[in-house]
Amino acid sequence: MALRTLTDLDDKKFNGKRVFVRVDFNVSVSNGTVGEDYRIRMTIPTIEYLTKRGAKVILASHLGRPDGRDDDYTLAPVAKRLSEIVGSRPGIKVRFAHDCVGQPVEDEIGRMNNGDILLLENLRFYKEEEANDLKFCKKLASLADIYVNDAFSTSHRKHASTYGMAKLVDARLAGFNMRKEVEYLSMMKDNPIKPFKVVVGGVKIKDKIGALEHLLLKADKVIIGGAAAYTFLKAKGFKTGKSLIDNEHLPWVSKALASYGDKIMLPTDHVAAISPADTSITMVKGDIPDGMAGFDIGSETIERYSTEVSGTNGAGMIFWNGPMGMFEVRAFANGTVNIAKSMALAYWRGAKTLIGGGDTLEAMKKSGVAENEVSHVSTGGGATLRYLAGDEMPGVSVLNGQ
Ligand code: ADP
Ligand code: MG
Repeated sequence: MALRTLTDLDDKKFNGKRVFVRVDFNVSVSNGTVGEDYRIRMTIPTIEYLTKRGAKVILASHLGRPDGRDDDYTLAPVAKRLSEIVGSRPGIKVRFAHDCVGQPVEDEIGRMNNGDILLLENLRFYKEEEANDLKFCKKLASLADIYVNDAFSTSHRKHASTYGMAKLVDARLAGFNMRKEVEYLSMMKDNPIKPFKVVVGGVKIKDKIGALEHLLLKADKVIIGGAAAYTFLKAKGFKTGKSLIDNEHLPWVSKALASYGDKIMLPTDHVAAISPADTSITMVKGDIPDGMAGFDIGSETIERYSTEVSGTNGAGMIFWNGPMGMFEVRAFANGTVNIAKSMALAYWRGAKTLIGGGDTLEAMKKSGVAENEVSHVSTGGGATLRYLAGDEMPGVSVLNGQ
């Protein structure tokens, strides 16, 4: 079923209405200042669409994992940054409410003019948010004439603001980010443009198994790097030294190799060292010597992988999740930087490219690849992997009336 989105509701129906928008403003804040504000900027199209149509826009988000009310987790710095971003537009006011439910908030909403924006305080100041407590859901729902969810990254959770309250509001819609995320991911999951290639790295095989199972089925090539590669190499009988191995999932990896061995690409050479702090790095082929660990893919592997990602035989669609090595250390960043640049090149050559994962996004930026050099940056993290694994997404299905 197609997702019901903002544009599915008659333009005039927003005027004067209290539109509650669940956003993901879970950004990093230090000393009262917002660091990376990508997540704030990306909600601007939804916010603007609503303010232009005369809605009273009520924004709500969680920030971190506070244990009850805790000023260290206030969204006040986010309100400040948001008003810096939208503030230059005439007539638009951003206010901050020091709570997310209750009389003072209701009064504040009562004072809003059409087109105003109000950011509520951290939803997780109430444990009822994560518990999807019905009373709390009702309180939130009472603030809304229309419910919009623009936070795909939280939609695998059945929380009050992502699920419970939505069921209590008749008009519920997806925001523009939610729509874009679901469109890209569902295309990749069900109907990828061929050839479809997947690049997987990082460490957490456990979190990625569900998604990998599905992607192995759909993809033409699955290119594996990062620490994840060593579990695959071990399963194939290579010596992996002190490299990070996920022994618990070795059996799964062996099975995957048996079923999809012809699709799976593994590194043939490595940058090895005794520890991440070891400055005398060694380039090795095949086995990793005892006492050493692989921290990056080697130059021969980089060449092979880059050609697969951006070669002129071209990819229809590429998904990348997980760095190729311990990219935070300069000596082990080469593999990741090269894959990031190859992703950009593939994009310029016409492939649809998607990047997912917090560290992967960080690595992409470190590599000098701009946000507009990929078709879509999925900010979903866990939600993205769950969606690709075919799990139910309560925050998405509730928008379609379920
Ligand atoms: P994402 O956040 O993009 O999903 P992950 O969290 O799975 O990615 O993995 C990122 C981490 O993997 C990085 O911190 C990186 O240092 C680490 N990593 C990648 N390759 C290796 C390796 N060979 N050895 C140790 N750590 C690695
Ligand atoms: Mg990570």
